[in-house]
Amino acid sequence: MTTTRPRKRRPPAAGPIAALVALARDARENAHAPYSRFKVGAALLAASGEIVTGCNIENASYGLTLCAERVAVFKAVSEGFREFEAIAVVADSPRPTAPCGPCRQILWEFCGDIWVHMSRPGRRGKTTSYRMSELLPVPFDGRNL
Ligand SMILES: [Zn+2]
Repeated sequence: MTTTRPRKRRPPAAGPIAALVALARDARENAHAPYSRFKVGAALLAASGEIVTGCNIENASYGLTLCAERVAVFKAVSEGFREFEAIAVVADSPRPTAPCGPCRQILWEFCGDIWVHMSRPGRRGKTTSYRMSELLPVPFDGRNL
């Protein structure tokens, strides 16, 4: 059995990460989270340099709720973007808020081994970065079919 080891690479320069995180913080302000009150923002950096944002959108029928990451990915794909470099995710939590399982699957499918930068609102705390291959080391994707 062959496994793919995560590629360890240095994250991009702090400046571009901070800018991406700032946009995710702004997007978080648009979150529709009347039930959980857990607001999340995301900013997805396309290979072209353009950035598409998303926020979580809850629904009274909880299962219809969409996470910020998936909103950003679906918006980007619907606008014709197909290659991505990184995503920033911002939530107010004592620990880094990593993408949930379904979001990891969607991020892998559409974005591949991008950087995932997790941070908090305001200027509190640092940004924690992982590659998707670290968050989803043995993915299920089109190569399995
Ligand atoms: Zn999610």
